[in-house]
Amino acid sequence: MYAGRIVETGTRADIYDNPQHPYTRALLAAVPVVDPARRSTQSFALSGDLPNPASPPAGCRFSTRCPFAVPGLCDVKEPPLASWAPTHAVACHLAGDLPEDTGLPRSSDPSLERGTTDETVSLPR
Ligand code: SF4
Repeated sequence: MYAGRIVETGTRADIYDNPQHPYTRALLAAVPVVDPARRSTQSFALSGDLPNPASPPAGCRFSTRCPFAVPGLCDVKEPPLASWAPTHAVACHLAGDLPEDTGLPRSSDPSLERGTTDETVSLPR
């Protein structure tokens, strides 16, 4: 959830193995990794402040902080929470089209430890 809107939902595997929303990836990138050998060499930090949910920006609420925002689209049209897969929904115009080399963790990132439960999760703001 970001600024009062759900941006991504899915099973644990959907979220941790294949996050499609930039904010989800930023949250996962912010998880501290104690073991230096398992830390990613890449980093990702959000700039800017959380918008006021009572007066959110036009279009995607994350557009003022998203490094992938497309001017004229993301700041105009709010992306709906749309199904990406049977158990996975994402509210991003670029779901599935984000650059692979974003510096944000993906399923192959060994710094992300996972449990085995496949429950549905929604990440907090
Ligand atoms: S819709 Fe645009 S601004 Fe919003 S998260 Fe996706 S790419 Fe970023």
